[in-house]
Amino acid sequence: MSIIVKNVSKVYGKQYALDDVSFEIKKGEVVGFLGPNGAGKSTMMKIITCFLPPTKGDVTVCGYDIWNNSLELREKVGYLSEANPLYYDMYVEEFLEFIAGIHHIKNKKARIDEMIESTGLTPERNKKIGALSRGYKQRVGLAQAMIHNPEVLILDEPTTGLDPNQLVEIRSLIKSCGKTKTVLLSTHIMQEVEAVCDRAIIIKKGKLVADASLPELKKMAESMGVREQIRQSDVFDMEALFQHLTK
Ligand code: ADP
Ligand code: MG
Repeated sequence: MSIIVKNVSKVYGKQYALDDVSFEIKKGEVVGFLGPNGAGKSTMMKIITCFLPPTKGDVTVCGYDIWNNSLELREKVGYLSEANPLYYDMYVEEFLEFIAGIHHIKNKKARIDEMIESTGLTPERNKKIGALSRGYKQRVGLAQAMIHNPEVLILDEPTTGLDPNQLVEIRSLIKSCGKTKTVLLSTHIMQEVEAVCDRAIIIKKGKLVADASLPELKKMAESMGVREQIRQSDVFDMEALFQHLTK
């Protein structure tokens, strides 16, 4: 197993942002993590990446647990956080060099070239990050998340705010990363899961409401009687199932 989340709860003050959530993700799986705003997706991702401790529960990533092996765990994980924090005054190459230094990457120059190439940053490589479009900023975010060649990628709403062209490009980039890595990707767009993922984990108000492969979700929609209501000239609209599960 790449990721094991066991009975995780997170309480902010009196509010349960996560309430006894458990799931497992196998090596190489690309899993969509769905839920409306405020469901607890970012909180769970911060816990998996050791940015935040849970109030209760355990998480292991590639066999390392958040309580005892957090440094080793972080080496295995690449994280693109929701806000994609970048230094706008740094040049693309300069920023990646800085991140490569943090990870003690040997042969930095070659690795940076490789990342710039694979994330499609070549035309913008000599610009300041602040001058890039949102789509290219996301590419820089993905490049920093992958520069140390992690086994697991945690991507928090990587396509939010992108225009339709950028969206397609970033999705296909994520899909190609998913060929060699375990990916957990949060979104509130069901179509994104259909486009990129093998499986979906759906949470609502901090509780798990579904954990199923795409064919299983389709069956679930049928048994819940939402299939007829959402059939559109035989195209199955997963969005309606999602709304039904999270309403
Ligand atoms: P999502 O990413 O699914 O939109 P979040 O994990 O960001 O959800 O938030 C889950 C809930 O926890 C929300 O109600 C949010 O307001 C609350 N929350 C998140 N971070 C904090 C915090 N640092 N302090 C207090 N409440 C928080
Ligand atoms: Mg969030």
